[in-house]
Amino acid sequence: MTQNATHDHQVPTRLMHVGGEWVDSLAGQRRDILNPARRGEVIARVPQAEAADVDRAVLVARRAFPAWRDQHFKARQLALLKAADAIEERADELARVTALDTGNALRTQARPEVATLVDLFRYFGGVAGEVKGTTLPAGAGQLQYTRHEPLGVVGAILPWNSPLMIAGFKVPAALAAGNTMVLKAAEDAPLSILLLAEILATALPAGVLNVITGEGATAGAALVEHPDIDKISFTGSTPVGRGIGRIAGEKLRHVSLELGGKNPSIVFPGQVTDELIEGLLISSRVHRQGQSCTAGSRLFLHREVHDEVVARLSQRLRDQVVGDPSEEQTDIGAIINDKQFTSVRGYIEDGLANPALHLEAGGLPPAEGPLSEGYFHLPTLFSGGDNSFRLAREEIFGPVVVAIPWTDVDDVVAMANDSAYGLAAYVWSNDVNLAISTAHRLEAGWVQVNQGGGQVVGQSYGGYKQSGIGREVSLEGMIAGFTQTKQVNIKITG
Ligand code: NAD
Repeated sequence: MTQNATHDHQVPTRLMHVGGEWVDSLAGQRRDILNPARRGEVIARVPQAEAADVDRAVLVARRAFPAWRDQHFKARQLALLKAADAIEERADELARVTALDTGNALRTQARPEVATLVDLFRYFGGVAGEVKGTTLPAGAGQLQYTRHEPLGVVGAILPWNSPLMIAGFKVPAALAAGNTMVLKAAEDAPLSILLLAEILATALPAGVLNVITGEGATAGAALVEHPDIDKISFTGSTPVGRGIGRIAGEKLRHVSLELGGKNPSIVFPGQVTDELIEGLLISSRVHRQGQSCTAGSRLFLHREVHDEVVARLSQRLRDQVVGDPSEEQTDIGAIINDKQFTSVRGYIEDGLANPALHLEAGGLPPAEGPLSEGYFHLPTLFSGGDNSFRLAREEIFGPVVVAIPWTDVDDVVAMANDSAYGLAAYVWSNDVNLAISTAHRLEAGWVQVNQGGGQVVGQSYGGYKQSGIGREVSLEGMIAGFTQTKQVNIKITG
């Protein structure tokens, strides 16, 4: 099925996907989608869903639920595996659309995101039969067992930073467990999600996955408030997540919140290898313009290696090619929008105005030349940091890293844990005992030792403290996050 797109002065309109059909918003309102790499360029228009559109999508998902739930798990498994193949077939197209609307560079970010999405569909297709309960040895006169039953209709809300990967954290898990969904794309980056809806329509029955576009305050809020939604699965900022948690609490509704991070990366003394420097480059998430909740943006460097790491990492940051996200040679693409670009600039200005900080790489964005035509920031490293500085406390969501020196392991663990957030952390040491004991002392939902890549399929993922509540991405997470347990006790007579 090909999406019903209309063109107005060469700007395509991409419609929402509800009940197996392409639909406009009932009020007919549209939103311009802008190119992060070229200020002011409209690349598409999408419907602005409102409460009535959410009603329509939830109704359709509710109607589709019993048939999707009541099948043998093999049917869901086949559908998810077919979906994975269909996504893989159109992987390059998905990556190009991601580069276009998110500004994430094609080679370093957009393609790997699609590859992770394919893996996640295959993984949850593979484990669809593992949504199994238990039986209790309750004697000959009793049959006592549990069932993990789907919750019903899941409302999922996505951010703009990695739409496809985060959809991959939610959609296949929720569907494998037997739920149906209404997925709201982020207002500034809906195009890859609408293309995903088109691809998934070839593998899923109509109504099982419904995709809407619209603003958080209208469409998002209507989804969260909707009386016929059984769970909200939210990824986004901590303030919005807190509000959603409050509403879910009032309504006693299931909720998972994947929120912000201000993640420590702790380097122990030892040889400064190229592998370490590349690991720090990857874990800083500069290749995602720092627009990653797992960015290792507080870089705690032991004084013995501090100067060498700062010098070599700064050089690697300066080597990165910042530019058009769709070009193969680009390492780092564009920041999503003007608001975020201005906010990141504010943090850099704050760093430059702080006499304790020293700019080692990057700095203010170019005011002229090709990079000034889009929302491009340079990968930036400040040394001389202190964990109390604003740059070390707030989530910048930009390519800005602050290096903080340390000497005592208890001190560095205390500084790492002195944050409102607790999403990810990185430990770099060749002393395996030290690395593991430090990993266990860190207040974070995900710790990596001597590596800094992205989430891998099947792993547990989620935050401590204000970084979130709930787990969904692993097999256990799927069962905990997308099912509810029913105990059945039966008397056997005769
Ligand atoms: P955001 O919270 O502004 O928006 C996220 C989504 O929520 C969007 O779809 C938006 O439309 C919707 N929304 C906004 N207000 C709403 C409301 N009142 N009710 C319902 N929905 C509403 O976040 P963002 O700026 O799009 O994304 C950046 C944030 O997301 C960062 O803080 C980042 O750390 C976080 N994030 C977390 C993870 C994770 O896995 N923990 C992953 C990616 C991004």
